[in-house]
Amino acid sequence: MSFKDFSFDPRISAGIRAAGYTSPTPIQQKAIPVVLQGRDVLGIAQTGTGKTAAFVLPILQHLTRGPLRQVRALIVAPTRELAEQIHQASVDLGGKTRLRSTTVYGGVSKNRQIEALRRGAEIVVACPGRLLDLANDRLIDLSRVEVLVLDEADRMCDMGFLPDIRRILKLLPARRQTLFFSATMPPDIRELADNILHDPVTVQIGMMAPVETVSHALYP
Ligand code: AMP
Repeated sequence: MSFKDFSFDPRISAGIRAAGYTSPTPIQQKAIPVVLQGRDVLGIAQTGTGKTAAFVLPILQHLTRGPLRQVRALIVAPTRELAEQIHQASVDLGGKTRLRSTTVYGGVSKNRQIEALRRGAEIVVACPGRLLDLANDRLIDLSRVEVLVLDEADRMCDMGFLPDIRRILKLLPARRQTLFFSATMPPDIRELADNILHDPVTVQIGMMAPVETVSHALYP
């Protein structure tokens, strides 16, 4: 299978080439067509499998049509490092489009984040706490979100973000596409997924062995 099979906008195909990706990874092969159809997805996959591009690419494709400079895709991640990685993937893959991505997370000054939101962005990659903070102060409008991604949902629950996630969900339109990614599926995560996904397609990438793109080393 090749990236050509997805018929991406030429500007996105250029982003894929610039990133040096030659063929889609297994999770991309499975998830991209389903996300492009607008279906909800339950993705069971670890970092290192190419899952970021599996949701970023079809989101970019979706956003190439429709209004600019309003928040249309919200990606929620547990840590600022992960938020930055996802944002960077959006910038790298979507660099040839007119779409803008920005980040929202705590531990840094709010002003630059507020300023970037004022200038307008279609994609916001956020950690739950600061996102709620800005939403409570009416500095971000989530009422026009079309696609929600919850990335590393199990880690967000482990970090105690479940109540924040529920609050965020209340700020979003009920009619939206939801993509839910988790490396594991303990009962509380399963329940959250069942509650928020509508008729999802499950995409699972075998995880019996450590993923090959992550090198492992042991220092005794
Ligand atoms: P992720 O699982 O999303 O953290 O991705 C792991 C790494 O794989 C990142 O460095 C990506 O840039 C890279 N990657 C993602 N998709 C592809 C692809 N189709 N071909 C080559 N590398 C990729």
